[in-house]
Amino acid sequence: MSVERKKMVYFFQQGGAEGSTKLRWLLGGKGADLAEMANVDLPVPPGFTITTEACREYQTTHEWPEGLEEQVAQNLRTLEGVTKRKFGDKTNPLMVSVRSGAAASMPGMMDTILNLGLNDAAVVGLAKQSGDERFAWDCYRRFIQMFGNVAMNITNKEFERYLTEERKKAGVKFDSQMGAQQFKEIVSSFKEVYRKNTGEDFPQEPMEQLRRAINAVFGSWNNPQAVRYREIHEIKGLLGTAVNVQTMVFGNMGHTSFTGVGFTRDPATGDNELYGEYLVNAQGEDVVAGIRTPKSVKELPKEDLSEFDDAEISAAEAKKLYSGMYNQLVEIKDKLESHYTDMQDFEFTGQQGTLYMLQTRRGKRTAAAAVKIAVDMAEEGLIDRKGAVLRVNPAQLEQMLHKQFDASEKAKAESEGRELARGLPASPGAAVGKIALRADDAEEMAAAEHKKDNPASIILVREETSPEDIGGMAVAVGILTARGGMTSHAAVVARGMGKCCVAGCGAVEPDEDAKTVSIAGRQYKEGDVISLDGSTGQVFDGPIGLVDASLTGAFGTLIEWADQYRKMGVRTNADTPKDARQAVEFGAEGIGLCRTEHMFFEETRISYVRQMMLSAPDVRRLTALLRAQEVALSQAAGSEKKLIEQRIKEIQNQLAGPKRLLDTALAKLLPEQRKDFEGIFEVMNGLPVTIRLLDPPLHEFLPHDPKIQAELGKQMGMERKEIAARVDSLKELNPMLGHRGCRLGITYPDIYNMQVRAIMEAAVACAKKGINVEPEIMIPLVGAAEELRITRDAADEVCREVLADSGADIHYKIGTMIEVPRAALIADEVAKYAEFFSFGTNDLTQMCFGFSRDDVGTFVPEYVDREILPKDPFQSLDQSGVGQLVAMGVERGRKVRPDLKIGICGEHGGDPESVKFCYRVGMDYVSCSPFRVPVARLAAAQISIELEDEIVGKLASAKSRPTITAAVQKT
Ligand code: PEP
Ligand code: MG
Repeated sequence: MSVERKKMVYFFQQGGAEGSTKLRWLLGGKGADLAEMANVDLPVPPGFTITTEACREYQTTHEWPEGLEEQVAQNLRTLEGVTKRKFGDKTNPLMVSVRSGAAASMPGMMDTILNLGLNDAAVVGLAKQSGDERFAWDCYRRFIQMFGNVAMNITNKEFERYLTEERKKAGVKFDSQMGAQQFKEIVSSFKEVYRKNTGEDFPQEPMEQLRRAINAVFGSWNNPQAVRYREIHEIKGLLGTAVNVQTMVFGNMGHTSFTGVGFTRDPATGDNELYGEYLVNAQGEDVVAGIRTPKSVKELPKEDLSEFDDAEISAAEAKKLYSGMYNQLVEIKDKLESHYTDMQDFEFTGQQGTLYMLQTRRGKRTAAAAVKIAVDMAEEGLIDRKGAVLRVNPAQLEQMLHKQFDASEKAKAESEGRELARGLPASPGAAVGKIALRADDAEEMAAAEHKKDNPASIILVREETSPEDIGGMAVAVGILTARGGMTSHAAVVARGMGKCCVAGCGAVEPDEDAKTVSIAGRQYKEGDVISLDGSTGQVFDGPIGLVDASLTGAFGTLIEWADQYRKMGVRTNADTPKDARQAVEFGAEGIGLCRTEHMFFEETRISYVRQMMLSAPDVRRLTALLRAQEVALSQAAGSEKKLIEQRIKEIQNQLAGPKRLLDTALAKLLPEQRKDFEGIFEVMNGLPVTIRLLDPPLHEFLPHDPKIQAELGKQMGMERKEIAARVDSLKELNPMLGHRGCRLGITYPDIYNMQVRAIMEAAVACAKKGINVEPEIMIPLVGAAEELRITRDAADEVCREVLADSGADIHYKIGTMIEVPRAALIADEVAKYAEFFSFGTNDLTQMCFGFSRDDVGTFVPEYVDREILPKDPFQSLDQSGVGQLVAMGVERGRKVRPDLKIGICGEHGGDPESVKFCYRVGMDYVSCSPFRVPVARLAAAQISIELEDEIVGKLASAKSRPTITAAVQKT
């Protein structure tokens, strides 16, 4: 009984192919696109593709699967028939290239062998056929070297040695200056190298050559660089590589031949014109090797071969031939685009006046080009607007909003070995500046530079940053830290400010006292210049030229189109009117997180913030004592009563001092905070503004410098030592899990009350000026419903008081952050007291994983490298773990309060994949740093479209969303 054999080889030739792009997983990218081009009648040299399935089988058995031998032989016969040539023939030989090609692009990682089929007889045939003996022997020697290297693992050095010798003998500098005789000699030397290394003669049988070449390509799937490439680019789940066996065409068959690469549009700008490079009388490798400088493809119609003194045709004939080739290329470009409806990157070769296409694939492009191409293609009718919105990777948009390195200067710096180290790409954009090692030095240096005609910029280099560094960060153009992850202070603040930041760069060892820093073992001192790429995490020695952000008109159009599909709101995390204004310009629809602590660091305030913090613990302790005594008094009788009264008086006396200190500090801070909030309300004019009450641990604000402690002592009427002791007493072992967030609000209610008062008084003042205000007061770090009840009641009381005093009618909301895992679990209880939830996924991730967000730089990159985690969870929400808490929080909260407004304000709010997740679980909005607002807008639009398409497909109504469990399972 005959068994139907699996099809493992697919034939293609111009006008028809057995495969198509539908079989990409089976034929690999190159094979599928060769088939596709053949199907649309583009001039593809004929050939066949061996499937990735065959490769997979070979990987396990190290033998060809049953039937492959026969199918290859049969396809080869067909190829001989189609080309009317014969393998190994001495008059009309067929030669093929054998190339790898997986379903995902892995450029240059796997093997290729060209000119296969040449042997001692076929080389004579090729010489006759081409009329060029030199060319034929040149091909043969190239083939022996490539085959020897790729299929038999002989190092290229072994061959190069003979080439150098032969060049010396001939007295020439380049291989191209050698003649047929020299190449013949090289061929015999190469055969000798082959024999010496393999113990056998160079195989003359083309079928044997082909078999070994196919094995080599199969094997290259698992070579170290290919494995590494797949790791880095997270390429998973592929079967292996396909093998493409294709008739050779020669761009080096004299001056009527050429080779090149092209793009259907300019990959840098997106301009709709043929873009690319070519070389006359050359093979593909010559373009890549950079021995000769290729010319722009736009020069092709003017090509007259005038730079060659041995051209076979006249200048007029050349021009005619090459302009014909150019016109054909333009036609092909149009055909490729209308067929693929996307920009393509292709390889072509002209052989003695006939044009061939050797490859096409989706062209890589800059962010600016991606946007322009999507918009132009929609306007040209090639795709629709939805398609344009879906086509641009939202993460790329952010690059367009910041300064970048000039691409050629950066490439030069890399080739010169000026890249010193790599950290986490914490905030995009590029920066060049002088090193400052302390925030105050940065401020001084910036001020000094400011007075110069040509002021240099400053890069702040720190072990890690803290809120105290805010001034230095504000004047710096870039921030480099040795420690900290993607949600470390440096990263969060830099993103908020739209500044470049490389964080967690372990190779950086700053010594702020010596004002030096060692970067990967090289010593730098304050004032030395370095460059940072915040999009890649690279740190460079010396300056690299910068170019401005390119916000083209197409950018605005695309975002406008995106908004037509978007259903989820996009807000911003902004702490200052300046950031808020920037965010509104980028389309923010409100503030989702205003962190009030950053306002505390201004020079005029910090000493009163400190006074507030150092007096509050006494007030708290003594007030508690007082309360206890008052209770005791109410239950006491007789002489005991007197004693208690006495005690109460003493406590009241003790309390008076600290209370006065606290009250004066609060009284100083109240108008300052009010001013901040007024500024923000004014900018946001009518848009909702979520203001978070104080969150970080107190110690972050306290002075450790003896000089500052002494000054504070003077202000508070205390010895420096006492200040130092108080600072010390507030120290915590694990501050991120310590006395912070609403825990401060409960223990030091005066601080929260002052902030709430400032918010409401600012709202009243703005309302009086005719500005619409929508304040939302947010209480952080709630883990128990009772925490929220207490702080919310207190805040509500202050709000009502302010409104009653002013007579204003302002609608305000009080809500909470869900950032402690327990809050997500008991979200139904929490929702009783909250009018809104905002997921603080920075802390939620920290506490769910048990990873300190400030220390992840030391191990998370390795976790990602080794695939222990798919991504840095502080960068892209861990949807399967932390995501469950988020989904649960939304579901449980809404069960109690169906109209609960829900958003996210952790850094994930600007990460496209996380944004999409937020929509799937039913959030109303995401909030992210100003420069990520357009990213979030586009991602939110994409998920609306994607889900709608999915849902329409499932006959659901366009508005409904899948259940939360389904949303989590989907991820
Ligand atoms: C969070 O925890 O996600 C958050 C937004 O708050 P912060 O980063 O200020 O802790
Ligand atoms: Mg938090």
